[in-house]
Amino acid sequence: MSERIYNFNPGPAALPLPVLEEAREELLNYKGSGMSILEISHRSALFEGVLQSAIARVKRLLKLDDRYHVLFMQGGASLQFTLVPMNLASDTAPVDYVDTGTWSTKAIKEARILGKNVRVVASSEDKEFTYIPEKIPVNPDAAYLHITSNNTIRGTQYRTFPDAGNVPLVSDMSSDIFSRVFDPAPFGLIYAGAQKNAGPAGVTLDIIRQDMLERVPANLPTLFKSTTHAEKNSLYNTPPCFAIYMVELVLKWVEETVGGLAAMEAINREKARLIYDYIDSQNFYRGTAQPESRSWMNVTFRLPSADLEKKFIDQSQKAGLGGLKGHRSVGGCRASLYNAMPVEGVRALVDFMKDFAQRNG
Ligand SMILES: *Cc1c(COP(=O)(O)O)cnc(C)c1O
Repeated sequence: MSERIYNFNPGPAALPLPVLEEAREELLNYKGSGMSILEISHRSALFEGVLQSAIARVKRLLKLDDRYHVLFMQGGASLQFTLVPMNLASDTAPVDYVDTGTWSTKAIKEARILGKNVRVVASSEDKEFTYIPEKIPVNPDAAYLHITSNNTIRGTQYRTFPDAGNVPLVSDMSSDIFSRVFDPAPFGLIYAGAQKNAGPAGVTLDIIRQDMLERVPANLPTLFKSTTHAEKNSLYNTPPCFAIYMVELVLKWVEETVGGLAAMEAINREKARLIYDYIDSQNFYRGTAQPESRSWMNVTFRLPSADLEKKFIDQSQKAGLGGLKGHRSVGGCRASLYNAMPVEGVRALVDFMKDFAQRNG
């Protein structure tokens, strides 16, 4: 391959080309320092500048008020499955979860391992996690209500978030953060591994409200406490500096090149419309998520047979469309249309799908 392809990988995933170019441009000599950003202290003024700018961009993009702290952590979203119940719930307080498949199932598992009082208040397991439960019971005594805003593997996404009243919402937004406008006020905590929609692997965003920090038990190990990271501005120990630098560049691109979250959302809506309109117009491909729960980020679909799916994935790769294989746990095909995927990439995919259906239908 001599040229870059349209990259539909689910994560780590495509990054905006201007971001990669900027990183390449300054790789050997960051802002005249004579050193790479990879080679400087996390306590240097240069890196502090990167960190402060990344935090400011997260706050501006998500319209977070002063109660929210933006932390950059390690261990992926998977470690947050453990840290969230550790930090936000006492051993007796009930914690409520919605089970919408793989990632939320894993979050539930970790809370149970910790011996928390876990209640699964809604689940879509009855229909193979092909939808987002419509009625989500809210219990006023819950320490929080945990949801997974976008289900990367099953291709479902909340269109609106549950109204939990005074119960703080906690969301794993790993695969749709910065993809659309939403009101952050009901959220006590939002976490996201960067490698889908916000940057490279190795850093996890943790957006936590002050009142959640006030719950953190004193007896947790230092590095597991959200308060440690908040008090030290993510610099208690060496953070993943290069990954944070890349997140800053991605968010600069969203703000300054795309024009902010409303503009980003309009593009994401258009991409989703293009592919779902096509899927709904024919009988060769079948979308697996129920229409009202469809994800704008991960479009999951099947072909008439596993053989055809294999052929589709092989031939699409050769046509310059990469990463269309479904998750190994569910099979089929999946097109991940994160922020970095341009509308033209989705047009190219739909054209390929039409052509492939004609040749094989
Ligand atoms: C990818 C993904 C995860 C796992 O993230 P890690 O960073 O690998 O721990 C968790 N939740 C969602 C929604 C994901 O898409």
